[in-house]
Amino acid sequence: MPAPVIVIGGGPAGLTAAYKLVVAGEPPVVVEEDSVVGGISRTVVRDGWRFDIGGHRFFTKVKPVEEFWHEILPPEDFLLRPRMSRIFYGGKYYDYPIKLGNALSNLGVVEAFRCGLSFLWVRIRPPKDLTTLEGYIVSNYGWRLFDHFFKTYNEKVWGVPASELSADWGAQRIKGMSLWNAVWEPVRSSLAGKRQDKSKLVTSLIEEFEYPKYGPGMMWERCAEKITDLGGSVRMETKATTVHVENGAAVAVTVSCGDTEERLTASHVISSMPFTALARIVDPPVPEKVLRAADDLHYRDFLTVALVVPEDRGFPDNWIYIHSPDVLVGRIQNFGSWSPYLVKDGRTCLGMEYFVFEGDDLWSCSDEDLVALGTKELAAIGLVEASDVEAGYVVRMPKAYPVYDDVYRQNVEVIRKWFEQYAPNVHPVGRNGMHKYNNQDHSMYTAMLTVENIHGAHHDIWSVNVEEEYHEVDADQGGPGTGRTGRDAPIMPRRTSEVGNVAG
Ligand SMILES: Cc1cc2nc3c(=O)[nH]c(=O)nc-3n(C[C@H](O)[C@H](O)[C@H](O)COP(=O)(O)OP(=O)(O)OC[C@H]3O[C@@H](n4cnc5c(N)ncnc54)[C@H](O)[C@@H]3O)c2cc1C
Repeated sequence: MPAPVIVIGGGPAGLTAAYKLVVAGEPPVVVEEDSVVGGISRTVVRDGWRFDIGGHRFFTKVKPVEEFWHEILPPEDFLLRPRMSRIFYGGKYYDYPIKLGNALSNLGVVEAFRCGLSFLWVRIRPPKDLTTLEGYIVSNYGWRLFDHFFKTYNEKVWGVPASELSADWGAQRIKGMSLWNAVWEPVRSSLAGKRQDKSKLVTSLIEEFEYPKYGPGMMWERCAEKITDLGGSVRMETKATTVHVENGAAVAVTVSCGDTEERLTASHVISSMPFTALARIVDPPVPEKVLRAADDLHYRDFLTVALVVPEDRGFPDNWIYIHSPDVLVGRIQNFGSWSPYLVKDGRTCLGMEYFVFEGDDLWSCSDEDLVALGTKELAAIGLVEASDVEAGYVVRMPKAYPVYDDVYRQNVEVIRKWFEQYAPNVHPVGRNGMHKYNNQDHSMYTAMLTVENIHGAHHDIWSVNVEEEYHEVDADQGGPGTGRTGRDAPIMPRRTSEVGNVAG
């Protein structure tokens, strides 16, 4: 019997790879260090309340991914949810994506006219520096809309002036999204008298999306069960601690579970663990230059304070962006709007989202203090009285966002090239696995293509989510502050230590 493929990580990428392998008759061994599957796409369960890390929409233009989701879960487990998200700014709610009528009535005719002029002005005189996020967004929206809807949120979430963030992120994430698209697309489709063509949509304009009724974790729990049923192995609370390389290939992975260590022989290693951590566990150690590159890749972390309130104190939106500079919270999810199966007892659960660095003041606060802070901020912005909050839970998610700073690309290249040359049967996949802002679909797709590569294909998985062939024109998730929901990180300037607690 040939040695199995060892898959590191039981998130979307790892489990997708494992499922594809087991279906092909090659049962793999998945090792997952946590006690739950799903990675960042897990569903957290506390006292019967369920919530995501952020909110995970299931939307893709990658057909094999869509088919995969429907192979794992039957139709009755999916809900088709309307998307609603607004910006809370200056005491008013603005629709997002921006809708002309709503923006006009909120801004007032005079300010709306100024925004229009400002949009036209940048057509004549574009910002000088298009390499910054500020320049990129201004060139798409004009200065005034940038000031109203992008600047404050970005700077609040990232703690860095948008003029110091790189346009690369904007180019990847706001591609295809412009004021013109936002205004014209709905008009165009209503004139054409038909629903919007999914294949032509930038994701920001998606009006509805699929969602597993018990949250995204349901997808990955079911996937793990199927892998096991078909003869694969999913080993929980088992951490990959060493990848052994001999004669130009990985030959084994040492894993630890509690006090026990075990060496598992491997034909290939598919790794969705953070790229930085992978480089550090190779034996014999990778050269100093590669270690330095790994040490120089950074992450942005995330925490949610989930507050239980009476259902009628919730809001119809899936989430609301909070632009107010007076509070630290960046975004608020209403998990009851995602699925009625996540909540119970005539109550809903509001997820106050804070963007942090692991170990900073907010991250290190006690859960009790964080629940008190979330409650206070909910009341401060006038959404829910503090006395209406009945319970609170805190979930910290380290490494939610790979940081794109101005040298991350070179660092990724150094690590990638080393593996390609000295251990080509080690295959990095997924989001942190490749240090790339892949959503579930692109994380999964890199895993699917990797399995095909193991079977002899020659896909360039680094092109997924970059080149047109693989690219979902993807303005989405976007937030007013970011062009997406704030679940993506822009490129940060290289001074992480100075950035401090951006949420604070
Ligand atoms: C706030 C937020 C909102 C998002 N919203 C959406 C959305 O709406 N739609 C969408 O499609 N995507 C969304 N995403 C992206 C999505 O969460 C990720 O793309 C996806 O989870 C990445 O899957 P992955 O398997 O590559 O990595 P992960 O989900 O990070 O999983 C990696 C797994 O590896 C495990 N692991 C790490 N190290 C080891 C080790 N040494 N040994 C064993 N196991 C290890 C981890 O415990 C983890 O379970 C969002 C992300 C964030 C942060």
